[in-house]
Amino acid sequence: MILRVNLSSGSVVKEELTENLRYEYIGGRGLASKILWDEVKNVDPLSPENKLVFALGPFNGLRTPSGGKMVIAAKSPLTNGYGDGNIGTMASVQLKKAGYTALVVEGSSQKPVYLCIEDDRISILDAKELWGLDTFETERRLKEVHGKGSGVLCIGPAGENKVKYAVVMSQRGRAGGRPGMGAVMGSKKLKAVVIKGTKEVPVADKSAFDEYTRAVYKEISSQPGYSFWMRQGTMAAVEWAHKNFALPTRNFSEGRFERFRTVDGYSMEAMKVGRRGCPYCNVQCGNIVLDKEGKESELDYENVGMLGPNTGLANLNRVAVLNRLADELGLDTISLGSALSFAMEAKKLGILKDAPSFGEYEEMIALTNEIAHRSSKLGDLLAEGVKIASKELSVEDIAVHVKGLEVSAYNCFRYPAMALAYGTSAIGAHHKEAWVIAWELGSSPMDEGNASSSYEMNYNLDKAAKVIEQQRIRGGMFEFLTACRLPWVELGVDLEWYPKILSAIVGENYTLDDIFKVSDRVYSLIRSFWIRELGTWEKVMDYPPKKWFKEAINGFHLEESKYEELLQEYYRLRGWNSEGVPTKETLKHLGLDFVAEELSL
Ligand code: SF4
Repeated sequence: MILRVNLSSGSVVKEELTENLRYEYIGGRGLASKILWDEVKNVDPLSPENKLVFALGPFNGLRTPSGGKMVIAAKSPLTNGYGDGNIGTMASVQLKKAGYTALVVEGSSQKPVYLCIEDDRISILDAKELWGLDTFETERRLKEVHGKGSGVLCIGPAGENKVKYAVVMSQRGRAGGRPGMGAVMGSKKLKAVVIKGTKEVPVADKSAFDEYTRAVYKEISSQPGYSFWMRQGTMAAVEWAHKNFALPTRNFSEGRFERFRTVDGYSMEAMKVGRRGCPYCNVQCGNIVLDKEGKESELDYENVGMLGPNTGLANLNRVAVLNRLADELGLDTISLGSALSFAMEAKKLGILKDAPSFGEYEEMIALTNEIAHRSSKLGDLLAEGVKIASKELSVEDIAVHVKGLEVSAYNCFRYPAMALAYGTSAIGAHHKEAWVIAWELGSSPMDEGNASSSYEMNYNLDKAAKVIEQQRIRGGMFEFLTACRLPWVELGVDLEWYPKILSAIVGENYTLDDIFKVSDRVYSLIRSFWIRELGTWEKVMDYPPKKWFKEAINGFHLEESKYEELLQEYYRLRGWNSEGVPTKETLKHLGLDFVAEELSL
């Protein structure tokens, strides 16, 4: 069932999910991208005409391994293209138990409201008292009213002020929707969604489901890397990235941070007071530390890499304060780290006088608040994201983004495959869809000794195939189900379990290949959405940041002509033309005839 709530009219509509939609798009990102293709055309992302989709997959609401995620999607105010993000939250469990596979929020309210979903009862409630509060306090108050077990999704001041990289937050530190999904929520004056569900989620073959899920939970906890992963989670990557010249340092100008030990996984372990994670996950990889203000802060590789080394901050306690502040304000920590470091480099170049210098902690705290509240000229400019800010200041070469979305924490001046993964990700520069850097390097953060490898930079064309392979799995399957990819990525859990569990839930036989076909369909659909919404398309949109071509770090940088060859191979394998536009034949083959027609191909 799809639940539609229109905040302009107050109308509530419940629609059956058609068999066709379920089969052709599975759920999560697949479902959200189809809804956006059909219903969001040539609109301003911050207007009432944009739609905010909270989409679930078959794994939600059931005790499935790491199956507590949810996809939040809309046309992005940061990129003007397709935007989404996943978030691990009890809200996914509760929404499924309330009987819905997706919630589509349409229109916009005149005054602040929050949405309360209690099974079939849907209420739009006054949020005057909540508007202006941070995300932690908002959730605390809502749980006081609606009960501790309710699922809460909310925005902070950044979302209210339509900061272009505002996120949706849940459970004191879970964030989702990097390309401004929080800003879309703010534009609708929707402060929060509270969900409580009591229905049973059907499973077609209960005994097979129980057998498979039991086996996967066991497989996860018996992997050799399990105890190290439970100790450090993604923080193990700090040392690994540093050793391999991939740690973003001072606005991606270096690949190693001389004081990396002050922010690595072992420093984090010394501060760690607990673990947190997503529902139904037996990994719980969120590292909770107490920051120097005595507040809890949830650290991972991405927020530490971007708010630490990339801003020149060599003190994990201070990184923790900054991270906690970003979570309270509802800012994406990756884009925030990029915006701060961009401003710092612009200051170094003499372009921005009133920005902090690298490593200036108090100034960073102040600027973060100014960004979230748009309360200073610089804060207001940086709230637009580094693409727009760099255009305004005529320093586009130092802005580290793809399609307007800031690059996450891997410096790829010597990693062509990972650069291609960033270049071709469906939402702009994000590692979530193809984290091929470990494959490219031949070593992983989980390796014993965390060693650097004997990697030699090359542009072998099999790198394009590898990016697509991972996009099919990570950007496709896991985003459809919607489940967390990390037990497979970090602990090596067998991929074949996932179609088996899916088949047991829905009662149809799925293979990995069946799911990958859906992945290919969705990637071409999303690419077509970008083309339609931007009204134009050039292959340069799939290029990584200019810095990686121009700035030689340790004598290395990407070569444009060789990257172009890799990109052309990627297009060929996808069935897209030499500018990156899906061909008519490809769209027809994928069952997307209606897309070819609309794009007049
Ligand atoms: S591995 Fe970490 S991110 Fe993934 S579901 Fe578990 S707690 Fe959440």
